[in-house]
Amino acid sequence: MTEMLPVTNAATDAAPAAKKPALPDAQTVTQVKHWTDRLFSFRVTRPQTLRFRSGEFVMIGLLGDNGKPLLRAYSIASPAWDDELEFYSIKVQDGPLTSKLQHIQAGDQIILRPKPVGTLVHDALLPGKRIWFFATGTGFAPFASLLREPETYENYDEVVITHTCREVAELEYGRQLIEDLKQDELMIELIGEENLAKIRYYPTTTREESPRMGRITDLLKNGTVFKDLGIDPINPDTDRGMVCGSLDFNKDIKTILEDFGLREGANSEPKEFVVEKAFVG
Ligand SMILES: Cc1cc2nc3c(=O)[nH]c(=O)nc-3n(C[C@H](O)[C@H](O)[C@H](O)COP(=O)(O)OP(=O)(O)OC[C@H]3O[C@@H](n4cnc5c(N)ncnc54)[C@H](O)[C@@H]3O)c2cc1C
Repeated sequence: MTEMLPVTNAATDAAPAAKKPALPDAQTVTQVKHWTDRLFSFRVTRPQTLRFRSGEFVMIGLLGDNGKPLLRAYSIASPAWDDELEFYSIKVQDGPLTSKLQHIQAGDQIILRPKPVGTLVHDALLPGKRIWFFATGTGFAPFASLLREPETYENYDEVVITHTCREVAELEYGRQLIEDLKQDELMIELIGEENLAKIRYYPTTTREESPRMGRITDLLKNGTVFKDLGIDPINPDTDRGMVCGSLDFNKDIKTILEDFGLREGANSEPKEFVVEKAFVG
């Protein structure tokens, strides 16, 4: 079978919503936003039967040139209660999937396997007072979900989100999401203004000049983060962590958290922090 998922220009489509799914796992793109030449986000319809925990990931993709699904792991960036699903994606120019996926438009279809999994979930952590979300690049995606999840604020008195990118523009998706979150009427109603005030946003850049420069790993080790935020250093009795970045970043943060006395947990064995790769390689 050579059936292709159409990647068409929505502007020339008379009625994109009327298109029939080309595959059982097809979902329709409802919105696309390009943030930089390397980053974009998009929203798709949500299968009625899909249940997931905020922070989990699914396999999504397009039909490859050989007519077979070309799928990759993607964190769901929207919260579990949202009617639609949001994703935040890299554009790898020679990447098998994202060289094509970056051209999707509203009305197009993608494949979404409705089997959510992952370790960046509240169930994998023991109770605590302060939660740290450590992200680099598209590793922000699972935290875009968890920051919009009421349970995050029910479980913790303080929510610290650190996001490190090379350039300022690469922080924009996260910066805008957090700013909108605090002003959005639905979010205020759902989560509460006093709960949204628990968010401490700590963005840093490593290459382009910005108000906060440097790797979060260095800023944690030399205590700058704690000084800047006016908080006590990380303590295993009160602090919990979730980490999502490159393999090297995850390894470095893991060592730092272990030095502070925290232990890595999993769904089956909740402890003080959990880690997930933002990508392989
Ligand atoms: C658990 C998990 C969750 C993931 N969630 C997301 C997500 O929410 N958003 C997302 O964009 N990607 C995510 N990825 C990566 C994703 O699965 C793909 O690798 C990515 O979409 C590129 O696909 P590709 O086929 O174009 O290139 P690939 O052949 O998959 O990758 C080519 C190379 O590009 C680089 N690369 C791939 N992904 C990224 C990235 N996200 N940031 C920086 N460099 C990268 C790596 O060096 C990789 O070797 C996730 C990966 C895992 C394992």
